[in-house]
Amino acid sequence: MATIRERLNRVKQQINAAEKRYGRPHGSVTLLAVSKTWPLEDILEAAEAGQGCFGESYVQEAVAKIDACPPELKRELEWHFIGHIQSNKSRDIANRFAWVHSVDRLKLARRLSEQRPQQLAPLNICLQVNISGEQRKAGLSPDQVSALAHQVSELPNLRLRGLMTIPAPTADFDQQRAAFRRVAELQHKLIEQGLALDTLSMGMSGDLEAAIAEGATMVRVGTAVFGQRRYPQTERTA
Ligand SMILES: *Cc1c(COP(=O)(O)O)cnc(C)c1O
Repeated sequence: MATIRERLNRVKQQINAAEKRYGRPHGSVTLLAVSKTWPLEDILEAAEAGQGCFGESYVQEAVAKIDACPPELKRELEWHFIGHIQSNKSRDIANRFAWVHSVDRLKLARRLSEQRPQQLAPLNICLQVNISGEQRKAGLSPDQVSALAHQVSELPNLRLRGLMTIPAPTADFDQQRAAFRRVAELQHKLIEQGLALDTLSMGMSGDLEAAIAEGATMVRVGTAVFGQRRYPQTERTA
């Protein structure tokens, strides 16, 4: 079994190779290590190997790990919330995270802005787009994105950075690219409308190359870094 350090290096090489192949500047894609379901020791091992950004999906689990993190490390690590958000958990997120990738409604954005402590930097936000139109998946439909983006960009304690998507899984590279391209085009339109966006959060273990080909600036990678999760991702009411 490869160590976390070895797997991290492999993923970074994959990212660098994709940057090169698709004409993206070296270093233009950030690796977010998705540590949901994995214990704090694994996060510390990844941090030891130089990884700084971690993604979590379940509030209760994430809070326990963040609060147990050694203080000297806590300052260095950047926590990203990427999961479904229940309104009654928004305060924990506003207090502890640097980024939220999964905002898809104004009411939630307003709560996060109101609950963001004043002494912290604005909370970085990506709007989640349901690009494949899957019924059961969270996220805005493409035609809802522009209105919410402009509303969120006005909220005082948030900083809108861009869009996030999880397309319907497919092994077909061209289909992967086509879905990511639609999100990149949506983002481009928002920029033309005057929003200062710099983040496209797209690509996971199975499709990060296609996402980088289409302009991803942040890939969210769990399995390829930490291994196969022992229980499937569900929206647990943690
Ligand atoms: C779990 C998760 C990931 C990581 O998926 P892998 O296939 O394990 O790389 C990325 N993004 C989101 C939103 C997730 O919930």
